[in-house]
Amino acid sequence: MTRAILALNAGSSSLKVAVYPETGDRPLLTGLADRIGAEGKLTLRDEGGVALPVAPGPLTTQAEAMRRVIESLRIDLPVAEIVAVGHRVVHGGPDRDAPAHIDDALLEELARYAPFAPLHQPHNLNGIRAALAEFPGIPQVACFDTAFHRHHPWVNDTFALPRAYYDKGVRRYGFHGVSYDYIAGHLAETAPHLHDGRVVVAHLGNGASACAIQNGRSVASTMGFSALDGLPMGTRCGQLDPGVVLYLMEQERLTPAQIADLLYKQSGLLGLSGLSNDMRELEASGTPEAAQAIDYFVFRLQREIGAMAAAMGGIDALVFCGGIGENSATIRARTCERMGWMGIEIDHHRNGSHARVISSDLARTTVMVIPTDEALVIVRAARAAL
Ligand code: ADP
Repeated sequence: MTRAILALNAGSSSLKVAVYPETGDRPLLTGLADRIGAEGKLTLRDEGGVALPVAPGPLTTQAEAMRRVIESLRIDLPVAEIVAVGHRVVHGGPDRDAPAHIDDALLEELARYAPFAPLHQPHNLNGIRAALAEFPGIPQVACFDTAFHRHHPWVNDTFALPRAYYDKGVRRYGFHGVSYDYIAGHLAETAPHLHDGRVVVAHLGNGASACAIQNGRSVASTMGFSALDGLPMGTRCGQLDPGVVLYLMEQERLTPAQIADLLYKQSGLLGLSGLSNDMRELEASGTPEAAQAIDYFVFRLQREIGAMAAAMGGIDALVFCGGIGENSATIRARTCERMGWMGIEIDHHRNGSHARVISSDLARTTVMVIPTDEALVIVRAARAAL
């Protein structure tokens, strides 16, 4: 048998999986169970991206998705034995700054943070429970999206509310920490002089945020108490005047559930374009509303990159990652326009070919494209638990 590590990321209606060998940084298999509960679909791919057979069966709950993934692994990787499991968990609360071994006490603790992330945390925990049932007795670890930010300076950890709310946990937690952790580690290995400097990372996927990383540590991030703050995203609003929420409650008479639906699922690129949450579709569409949605995305991104640099007193490197950051040369080029004041100037040929370094040789700030790898961070944490 080949000893293997399983990385899991359980969302509200999806389960992302990756299987890695016990040593080595290339996955044996990656996969996604999508639209769990509706017409769920499970797709698995081998190392080379070729689709693999999946076990038949229902996909209506996280537990069923987990079972089908495991049955499929028996078909696709018959000689692999899962010896540790790592989970992505959105919220580790105010103190957890590192991955943690999963036991009953941790599950109880993490359930207490569910009110801070009601749309994500309960699903993450369901995924863990399903995996504990399927893999009893092997080490399982949780990797928190908040952990990387836990040593923010106080001014980036608080809101200007009465102090009692801070003590109750109303703080700027920051998210996407698993991705930032990967980027910081990658820079430490490949560009130590930048790792030891001031780096702004823009993680631009369906969710999007930016983070100021100095000497490998997060000092500020655009996401705050929830994953709504900061940049506009596929369907989330990004930064919003809290007065808007009061108005929605008092004048429009929306309930908390309706407001959550509006801010998390109907806003961002989708809300502005009236068309799609998908950047590819907006870039291809050419409607004035799609163009405005992109204009807003780029403008807010430029603002936040400036804000993150200000938090560090300057910038040595800007890193793009996530589906949009890694693939859209247009968004990268537009974001870097009029950023000469920050020493940012890109080489359009390098940008167009998605080179690793896309800044021009004379630019003061290095601009990079680094494909992020959250699963690898989770796998490394699970390995460490063995
Ligand atoms: P998630 O946050 O769900 O992991 P991804 O990191 O995969 O999401 O990012 C998804 C986003 O990346 C979508 O908006 C998608 O349109 C965008 N994207 C992927 N490929 C391209 C591309 N070639 N050009 C522009 N946008 C792209």
